[in-house]
Amino acid sequence: MHDLVISMLQQRGVSLSDMAVLVLEMQQKYVPLNYDIALEHVKKVLEKREVQNAILTGIAIDQAAEADLIDEPLLSILKNDDALYGIDEILALSITNIYGTIGLTNFGYLDKAKPGILAELNSKTSGKVNTFLDDIVAAIIAAACSRIAHSYESNA
Ligand code: MG
Repeated sequence: MHDLVISMLQQRGVSLSDMAVLVLEMQQKYVPLNYDIALEHVKKVLEKREVQNAILTGIAIDQAAEADLIDEPLLSILKNDDALYGIDEILALSITNIYGTIGLTNFGYLDKAKPGILAELNSKTSGKVNTFLDDIVAAIIAAACSRIAHSYESNA
């Protein structure tokens, strides 16, 4: 399952390294960190069953919308990533919730700033539907950041 979700993310244009670089960028000002440690935390987040389930669900919905397999009016809502459609964020919260409030704060920041891979996923030029995926990827990054914060706290 761990390998499956990694390859599903990859097929949707998101690599482990896309996520690890953002984790590093966000956390290196707070804790001593390098790319390999950041990558390790991203992988650990992806081992959680709740996270895997959110990835499977979100990507399935994006792909169904992309293939026009969903009825209107939901199809257009998904394809346009309608601002008032909040179910994608709600699903992503099932990832950040695992790591408490810090996860939520980081998710909020990523959702607004959209650095790196998140900007790519959000550009609607590709013809792809990433309505769920952008929030899921932000949540994975946020969760990895929280995991790092927690691990340093317990060592202090
Ligand atoms: Mg979204």
